[in-house]
Amino acid sequence: MSEIITLGPDGQLIVPPAPTIPIIVGDGIGPDLWRAARPILDAAVARGGHGPINWLEVLAGQEAKTKTGEHLPEETLAALKKYRVSLKGPLGTPVGGGIRSLNVAIRQKLDLYACIRPVTWLPGCPSPVKRPDLMNMIIFRENTEDVYAGLEWPAGSPEANRLIDLAGQEFKVKIRPGSAVGLKPMSEFGSKRLIRMALKWALEIKAPNLTLVHKGNIMKFTEGAFRSWGYELAASEFGALTVPENEATAGETRLIVKDRIADNMFMQTLLRPDEYSVLAMPNLNGDYLSDALAAQIGGLGMAPGANVGDGLAVFEATHGTAPKYAGQDKVNPSSLILSGAFMLDFMGWKDSGHLVRQALTRTLADKIVTYDLARQMDKVSPTATSAFGRAVLDRMGGER
Ligand code: NAP
Repeated sequence: MSEIITLGPDGQLIVPPAPTIPIIVGDGIGPDLWRAARPILDAAVARGGHGPINWLEVLAGQEAKTKTGEHLPEETLAALKKYRVSLKGPLGTPVGGGIRSLNVAIRQKLDLYACIRPVTWLPGCPSPVKRPDLMNMIIFRENTEDVYAGLEWPAGSPEANRLIDLAGQEFKVKIRPGSAVGLKPMSEFGSKRLIRMALKWALEIKAPNLTLVHKGNIMKFTEGAFRSWGYELAASEFGALTVPENEATAGETRLIVKDRIADNMFMQTLLRPDEYSVLAMPNLNGDYLSDALAAQIGGLGMAPGANVGDGLAVFEATHGTAPKYAGQDKVNPSSLILSGAFMLDFMGWKDSGHLVRQALTRTLADKIVTYDLARQMDKVSPTATSAFGRAVLDRMGGER
């Protein structure tokens, strides 16, 4: 029986016992990942006493192009909207030309304005830092604005030349003739709704602090405004529950709201990771910082994520299609598995999400790992994607 996730009066998800969940398997390594991840998620759902999930495969990317002539068919977008919660593998985007990013298109068309990436180390996972256990952050990246809005024109194009002329005539600023030109829109509305979601999340999980990460010293009216809007929002909507860092007292029980300039933040996450909990930031900063933090907990193969809007969410691994490994049964499926676990948590099936993470941790403890982790460990041979998936499944549930 298939059922649809709906919204309650306060915008909360109402999840039926056996929901339909669309899955975009994705390009490149996507099929290898999904083959390994699906049985694990199904087993965790069943052991948690939920489900079953009715996975509805919907097309996007290369397979969609071959079968329908479109990279992102309308039916796919309609299904993601109708069923509200979905899981997605990676989709490829050519650099410098060709189609625009399908990932960005999905985020923009469904207004999935927050990219949420929890960065937590699982015991047993190799790491390039001495104390990966100190890393327990969650990134909220604005997903629809900034230099990722897709507003850019090639060098020498009529649009770029016109913007250069306009800037010269109207604003008396000189842009080198023949330049490519892009726009960086950042609105109060877009910034505040992202920061609001991050603040609510931080309060719900009782996080000690939330940090606004920006480059407002240089980009004063875009990223600088992001910072100001963040403090303003925290004071106006969450005043009794939050406190700016410079007013916090020893033993502070309220959520401390602080800000850091992005370049400093990269250093802070390496040197003092335990001083940071929830991070909220504009699009580009979030893209860079997500991968940098993933490196500390084992790499992109271990990094889950979600794109979330109001009443809609698409869960996906942080990494891309890794085309050189496509079809080789080689890559690490943990990022998709963990994205699925994050999805189960989000649906309120936290017991099932926990079972997935527990089984993964047991597998790592037994030194069963794919190539990406094996090469960071001593005398450990890599396991194939499929064998790794089976090992995780074998370690689900029961005492240890
Ligand atoms: P990538 O696909 O994320 O791969 C970069 C490197 O990360 C890989 O070469 C591999 O490192 C490692 N890696 C990625 N996934 C892994 C996994 N599951 N297990 C182990 N290692 C993994 O980035 P890219 O090569 O820059 O991008 C390829 C395509 O993906 C592009 O078309 C890009 O647009 C697209 N992309 C899509 C998404 C998305 O769907 N959300 C996100 C990012 C990129 P080693 O080479 O060191 O083994």
